[in-house]
Amino acid sequence: MITIYSEKHRLRDAKTELFGGLLVPPYESPSRADIVLARVNSKKLGEVIAPREFGLEPVLALHDAGFVEFLRVAWDEWSQTEYEGEVIPTCWPARRMSQRIPDFIDGKVGYYALSSETSISKGTWEAAIASKDVALTGAELLLNGDQTGTSLLAPLKASGVKGVFSLCRPPGHHAAFDMFGGYCFLNNAAIAAQWFRDNGIERVAILDVDFHHGNGTQDIFYEREEVLYLSLHGDPRDAFPHFSGYSDETGQAAGEGTTFNCPLPRGTQFKTWCDKLKECLTKIDQFGAEVLVVSLGVDTFEKDPISFFKLKSDDFLSIGKLIADLKRPTLFVMEGGYDIKELGINVVNVLQAFEG
Ligand SMILES: [Zn+2]
Repeated sequence: MITIYSEKHRLRDAKTELFGGLLVPPYESPSRADIVLARVNSKKLGEVIAPREFGLEPVLALHDAGFVEFLRVAWDEWSQTEYEGEVIPTCWPARRMSQRIPDFIDGKVGYYALSSETSISKGTWEAAIASKDVALTGAELLLNGDQTGTSLLAPLKASGVKGVFSLCRPPGHHAAFDMFGGYCFLNNAAIAAQWFRDNGIERVAILDVDFHHGNGTQDIFYEREEVLYLSLHGDPRDAFPHFSGYSDETGQAAGEGTTFNCPLPRGTQFKTWCDKLKECLTKIDQFGAEVLVVSLGVDTFEKDPISFFKLKSDDFLSIGKLIADLKRPTLFVMEGGYDIKELGINVVNVLQAFEG
C-alpha cells in the first residue's frame, strides 16, 4: 500500500493544550506522525510519497470562506496583540447571544472555535494545508493511478481490494463547515470525499472508526444524499465532542438517512464494537458506495490516554480484514490515536490486514 506523507506536519507543533484545567503539552504532537511513518517503513507497507499541491479550491468547496481566511491569518493577528501564549478561545456566541463576527482576534477565535483545548500556533495553517494535500493526493492516486498512469481504481473494481494511506496530520474529522477544534482545522476526509464526487464518483461512504464522533464530517454532509457518513464512537454524554454524535442524528432534508451514529459506552470491548462495525459495513454495501474513505483513528485502543474503549492491538487486524471484505477502493485518512508507544503498530495492523 502506498503512503502519502508530508514533512510539513511538523509545522503544527503547539506548546499548549487546555486539559483538565491545566495547560499541558498537546496529545496531538509531531511524534505521532513520526511513529506511524517509522512503522510503515519497518513493516515495509510500501512506497512513501510526498503530496502534490491542490490549492484552496477543494477547501472552499466545503468550508466557509470566512472561516478559511480566519485560519490563514489567526496566528498573525494574535501575534500583533500583547498576548504571550498561543491562540486559545475564551468567549463564545453561546445561547441567545449575537452570532455576528467580531473584529478583534479574541472574539473571532471564539466565533470560529467549537472547543477550547486546541490552540492555534505558528505554522498551524501551513501544516493544515499540507495535511489536506496529503488526503487529496491519496484520493487522486486511488482514482487516477500512480505516475506510470496505472489506475488503481479500475483493477480494484475487478479484484476487489486496493487502498491508499494518507498519513494526515493535523487530523480533520472535528473540523466543521465553519469551526475548528478537537485538534482539527480543515476536514481532510471530507475534502477527499468531495474530491471523489467532483471527479465522477457518484456515491461515497465515509466510515469513521476514530474513538470520537466526527462532528465536522457529519456537519458538512448532513443534508447530502450522495455521501454516507457512519461513525462508531464514545457516547457523547460522556465523551468529546459532547454535543454531536447521538443516535437520533440521522441527517436531514435530502440527507435524511445518510448519517448513521453508533455511540458506545465506557469500557466497550471489541466484540460489541465489532458488531456495530459490521452493521456499518452492511449499510455501506447497501448504499452502493463506489469509494470508501476511512477516518482512521486508533484512539479506541485500550491504553489510549484520552479515550475509554478497550480494543487490543490484534483487534486492529480484524478491522482491516473486515473493511477489505467490502471490496471497495479505500482511502485511509489518519485521524486520532494518542498512545504514542503502540500508535504505529495499531495503524499499520489495520492497513496490512486490509492488504491481506
Ligand atoms: Zn479521536
